[in-house]
Amino acid sequence: MKEAILYEKLNNDYVRCHVCAHRCKMAPSKTGICGVRENRSGTLYSLVYGTSIAESIDPIEKKPLFHVYPGSKSYSIATVGCNFT
Ligand code: SF4
Repeated sequence: MKEAILYEKLNNDYVRCHVCAHRCKMAPSKTGICGVRENRSGTLYSLVYGTSIAESIDPIEKKPLFHVYPGSKSYSIATVGCNFT
């Protein structure tokens, strides 16, 4: 477990995460919609830091950013957690 980045501390030990468009506001002991960022006493922690469940190298044409460097490779990693409810 590691303190998260990209969040702000609010009053009364609440925090707001800025990683994705949900911008979850979390009370102490609560997680965001993704279920993998948790407010512990006013500090936001990532519960999945360093615990990838998948990684792959693919042709860039499989990705939505294929137009950036056509013909190159992309490197993807993933953890558990989902923000699509
Ligand atoms: S869903 Fe997760 S990553 Fe997105 S804002 Fe909420 S806590 Fe942050």
